Amino acid sequence: MPDLIKVAKFGGTSMADYEAMKRCANIVKSDSDKKVIVVSATSGTTNLLITIVSLTELPEKEKIVERIREKHLEICSHLVYGDQARQKIEHLVNELEEKVLSSKPATPQYSDEVLSFGELLSSSIFTYVLRELIGDRAEWLDARDIIQTDHNHGSAEPDVDQIEKNAENRILPHLQETCFVTQGFIGRTRSGVTTTLGRGGSDYSAALFAEAVNADVLEIWTDVTAVYTTDPRIVKNAKPITEISFDEAAELSVFGAKVLHPATMVPAIRKNIRVYVGSSIEPHLPGTWIMKNTKEKPPIRAISLRRNQTLLTVHSLDMLHRHGFLAQLFQVLSNHKISVDLVTTSEVSVSLTLDTNAGTSGIDFLPKKAINELKTFCEVEVEQNLSLIALIGNNLHTTSGLSGPVFSSLDGINVRLICHGASSHNLCFLVDQDRAEVVVQKLHERFI
Ligand code: ASP
Ligand code: MG
Repeated sequence: MPDLIKVAKFGGTSMADYEAMKRCANIVKSDSDKKVIVVSATSGTTNLLITIVSLTELPEKEKIVERIREKHLEICSHLVYGDQARQKIEHLVNELEEKVLSSKPATPQYSDEVLSFGELLSSSIFTYVLRELIGDRAEWLDARDIIQTDHNHGSAEPDVDQIEKNAENRILPHLQETCFVTQGFIGRTRSGVTTTLGRGGSDYSAALFAEAVNADVLEIWTDVTAVYTTDPRIVKNAKPITEISFDEAAELSVFGAKVLHPATMVPAIRKNIRVYVGSSIEPHLPGTWIMKNTKEKPPIRAISLRRNQTLLTVHSLDMLHRHGFLAQLFQVLSNHKISVDLVTTSEVSVSLTLDTNAGTSGIDFLPKKAINELKTFCEVEVEQNLSLIALIGNNLHTTSGLSGPVFSSLDGINVRLICHGASSHNLCFLVDQDRAEVVVQKLHERFI
């Protein structure tokens, strides 16, 4: 077994073209501890594949297949092993074409099969790019041989025990001499059907690989140099964060920072694997370490903004000194598969936030039927166009005197629903969408 095992993940922009891939290959070459390389589809390809699934006209689909073919063959034209790479790409794209032309109905299973080609293509090319630098040590691995999942197409759940067993057989015995190149995002059910882990799921895949091979470090190479104190597009002098704890990072990804897929932290925490986030464009710049314990534990480390929140308030005098109301409320929400983020209650009312972004697969995030059901036992109010702002840090539930300055600095801004105390790592509240950026700017200025 090697001394240190690192799993490195490169995102879509890091796979964008030959130049980008070459930069990533150099990052891999510079450190022989990197043993498992997980890649995303080349940037934009997953979106193209989703379009294919959504289209009905064959010629239109065919056009996009050809675009995908050209895009990948173009990268092959720069390669030393160009002929081999080209053959592999032609083979994969022909397979994709066959699937697309078979005019099967666009079931979730079919969609996952089509979407999987993005990562299959990028990883195939990247293996050859890496071979230019480290030779035959670079070996392509089908992630589906490792990442076993359930049948929940589009956001499949991994089977962690089976994944570990698969890695034990297929990866661990070869770690000394091999650098595996594999795919993020995709998996396979027990019965052999291809699945995907959800948009942006390559980070999660990489974390699952890291867990399965008992990695010391999980590296996420992306197009930003680090995790920032807030979105630099909103606050120009947002600062890179050097170190952040697992708990804080988990809150940050849940509350809207787009750097990591929210599930990524889960395997890392389970096995206490340190996570590094860095830029594949400027790998020499310091990135962010995410670890169990950080040296400093500031009360406010970062501020995140999540747009498109809906506030659902239910009100009923029946709640007063009664039991079962909350159970009844959540039963209705659960029956309609409505995902709730934050909850606050008073004696006679309950406010909940719903993430409007959650309805990505076209599912109505708050169906009329659910509202009508609620109306049979309480009054219902729905407010939209709100943004959720979260202050992320440490001991926020005990840092006395913090909420005073926070809310007084928001003079003149209508603050809705405040959640404070449930987590020691965040304090969050809702504001009107059109004031949200100003709020983030004010808070960043004042507290970071
Ligand atoms: N290619 C997939 C997506 O675009 C997965 C990923 O990049 O993480 O969502
Ligand atoms: Mg990503």
